[in-house]
Amino acid sequence: MERTLSIIKPDGVSRGLIGEVIKRFEKEGIKIAAMKMLHLTKKEAEGFYAVHKEKPFFDSLTDFMSSGPIVVMVLEGENVIQRNRDLMGATNYKEAKPGTIRADFATDIEKNVVHGSDSPENAQKEIAYFFSELEIH
Ligand code: UDP
Repeated sequence: MERTLSIIKPDGVSRGLIGEVIKRFEKEGIKIAAMKMLHLTKKEAEGFYAVHKEKPFFDSLTDFMSSGPIVVMVLEGENVIQRNRDLMGATNYKEAKPGTIRADFATDIEKNVVHGSDSPENAQKEIAYFFSELEIH
């Protein structure tokens, strides 16, 4: 059994896609083990995306991620890190496979609706950034 962190980004929340995204997880048999809505400060967004701090898109990305509420979730299931990445689709929605969340809903390489951890190590760090063990069911 594996855990991963999923985020419905500010564009997904403001466009009314919370239910749509969660429906796709539940339809795949992925368990939602924790969930909350947050509005990150710029500093909190910078902390979350610290691995990207040298990238040219860092400032814009952290402005976007702190621009409105997000939904953060811990997903649980077998091989859930990869299964979530498969449901999300490629970072660039233009390269995402049809039927993925990003292909269906993203409007921009930055505003791509969802985040998902990309490795067990990052999943553990990202889950701990938002949740205590007591909040994970
Ligand atoms: N991003 C961006 N421009 C880029 C690459 C990434 O704005 O050229 C944003 C996009 O929102 C992406 C996030 O930065 O989801 C993190 O990038 P990463 O490469 O980790 O992609 P992900 O794991 O989210 O697919």
